[in-house]
Amino acid sequence: MLSNTQRRKGSKQREKVLDIVRSTKSHPTADWVFHEVRKELPNISLATVYRNLNLLVESEEINEVLCDGQLRFDANKGEHFHFICKSCKGIFDIEETRVSSPDFKLPRGYVVKDVKIDFYGLCPNCQSKK
Ligand SMILES: [Zn+2]
Ligand SMILES: [Zn+2]
Repeated sequence: MLSNTQRRKGSKQREKVLDIVRSTKSHPTADWVFHEVRKELPNISLATVYRNLNLLVESEEINEVLCDGQLRFDANKGEHFHFICKSCKGIFDIEETRVSSPDFKLPRGYVVKDVKIDFYGLCPNCQSKK
């Protein structure tokens, strides 16, 4: 059983973690979130940050994004695709409305319920840095 103090502390940490994930569009890793949270909650541990990120994913406040084998977090709950830059490894949100839906031909008998597409390439910033 958690005491009330522990529970209050827990929800304060969770709010901070959520604030930080929401403060960026960069789809941060747990390590980045940990680094940012520690500026305000110096005693927080990486394990606590992981636990809170998982809780936020479970309660559907944020999404997990697996990119290049690395787990990252996304506070953008709207429907969107990801563009992953092969140079800077940045993940950029592409609004779904800008992408016309691909017309895949699947073998008979398969019913599609959901499609996950990631785009890979160079972001505008990396293209101009050539
Ligand atoms: Zn880039
Ligand atoms: Zn996103």
